[in-house]
Amino acid sequence: MSEPARKHLPLLEDDARYARRSSLRKDGSRVKVVPADVRGRFQTARKAVFALLIVVWAALPWIQIGGHPSVQLDVAARRFYLFGKVFNAQDTWLVFFLLTGAVFALLYVTALAGRVWCGWACPQTVFLEGIFRPIERLIGGTREKRLRRAAGPWNAERVLRGGAIRLFWLVAALFVAHVFLGYFVSLPRLFVMVREKPSENYEPFLWMVALTVLFYIDFSWFREQLCLVVCPYGRMQSVLFDSDTLVVGYDETRGEPRAKGKAKAEGKGDCVDCNRCVVVCPTGIDIRNGIQVDCIACTQCIDACDAIMDKLERPRGLIRYDSLAGLQHKPKRILRPRIYFYTALMCVGAAVATFAFSKRTSFEANLLRLPGAPYVVEDGKVRNSFEIHLVNKRGETTTFVIEPVESPNVELVTPTSRVELGSFESRRIPIFAVQPQAHAASKMLTVRIRAVGGPEEVAREVKALLLAPSGGHT
Ligand code: SF4
Ligand code: SF4
Repeated sequence: MSEPARKHLPLLEDDARYARRSSLRKDGSRVKVVPADVRGRFQTARKAVFALLIVVWAALPWIQIGGHPSVQLDVAARRFYLFGKVFNAQDTWLVFFLLTGAVFALLYVTALAGRVWCGWACPQTVFLEGIFRPIERLIGGTREKRLRRAAGPWNAERVLRGGAIRLFWLVAALFVAHVFLGYFVSLPRLFVMVREKPSENYEPFLWMVALTVLFYIDFSWFREQLCLVVCPYGRMQSVLFDSDTLVVGYDETRGEPRAKGKAKAEGKGDCVDCNRCVVVCPTGIDIRNGIQVDCIACTQCIDACDAIMDKLERPRGLIRYDSLAGLQHKPKRILRPRIYFYTALMCVGAAVATFAFSKRTSFEANLLRLPGAPYVVEDGKVRNSFEIHLVNKRGETTTFVIEPVESPNVELVTPTSRVELGSFESRRIPIFAVQPQAHAASKMLTVRIRAVGGPEEVAREVKALLLAPSGGHT
C-alpha cells in the first residue's frame, strides 16, 4: 500500500509495524483518521442535538431580554449580560460561583454518564460533526471515495472537490468566528464593522481573522487531536470514572472469541471481526481493546455494530452504553458513595451560590468622607462633608431618591435629592451633615437611597461616622 493511503487508514494489518493503537503512534506521530459514515438511532439523535445546539448558540446574541442580548460579554463596556441580568467588573467575584458550578456539574454528569459531554455537547464535537464533517462528506463523497482520491493522482476532480471542500470550510470557519465575536461585540456594532473598512476596526478585524484561522485549522486538520492531546478533561477520566459509570463499551464475554462468518460456530462469540466499529471511530481506536482515554463516547461504534448484528440476526448491544460492571455482567448501581458525595457538594455549592447572588444589589451606593479636615465649625454649627457614590447596575435608566434617616439635631444638605442614572452610569453627589455646635456629638449618620425607576423599588442604607469636637466645642 502506498504511503499516502496507509496514512489515512486507521488500524490496519500494519498496526504492529507502526506500533499504535489510535491516531497517535508510539513515537508521537499522527495517523490521519478518516472515519466511515455511519447511520443509526444514536447518530440520528446526535444530529438533532447538534442542530439544536448550533441554532441556540447562533441565536442567543440575537435574543433580547430587557433590551439587551440574552448572553453577551461586552468587553469594551466591561459589562456582562446574562438572561436579563447585567453584571459589571465589580461583580467579577460571582464568576467564581459560575465556574465552580460548571465544574461540579461536569463532575456529576461524568460520574453518572461518563463522557456524554464529549460525544454530544462539546463545541469541538458539535461543530466538527455538525458542520465540517458533513461538508466533507457532501462534496467529497464516502470515505472510500475520498481515500481513493487522496491516494490517486492530482486530476481535475481531486482539485475541484478538494478546493470546494476547503472553500466551504473557510465559509463555515468565518461563520463560527463571527457568531463567536457576537458574544463579545453587540450585533448592531458587528454589522457596522463588517461593512466598514478593516483599517477602521483593525483590532476586532484581527480577532476575526485569528479566530477564523484557528477554527479552520482545528476543524479541518487538528480535529480529534484536540481531544487527545490538548483537552485536560479527557485526561481526568480515570479519576472521575468508577465501575458503575456509564461508558461506551464492548461486551467481551459475549463477543469473544471472534469468528468471521454469518453462521455462528460452536464456542465462538458474536463478534465477526468485521472491523466496522474501528473504521467509524473518529479517534481511530478499537473499542474491543477496552475502555480507552481516546474514546469520546460518540456512540458511532454502537450504531455500526448494531447494524452488523441486525444483518447477522443477532441481538443488538455487543457494543453499547453500559457500565464496566454491566459489561462484565455484574450487578449495576446508580446510587453509590461517589454520587452521594457529589450530590452533597452540588447542594452546598448551589446554596452558597444562591446566597451570593441574592446579596447582589441592583445598585451600588457608598457614603464617602471628602478629603480634608474631618469637620468644619462655622457660625455655631459643625459641618461634616461627604459624597454619595451611586452606580446604577440595572439594565435600564433608574431614578434614585436620597433621604435622610431621622437623626436628632442633624440637618442634611444636598444639591439634589433625586438623581437619574442610565444603565451602569455612576455619579458622585455631595452631601453635608450639619448639626448645632451646642448639641454636636460623634455618632453614626445613616442615609437611605431608594431606586424608584425600574422593575422594583429597592432601598439601601449607607452609613458614615459623623464627627464633632469633643464636648460639642472646638
Ligand atoms: S462492529 Fe461489532 S462485530 Fe464488527 S468488529 Fe466491531 S464489535 Fe465485532
Ligand atoms: S470507541 Fe466508539 S464511542 Fe469511542 S470514540 Fe470510537 S466510535 Fe466513538
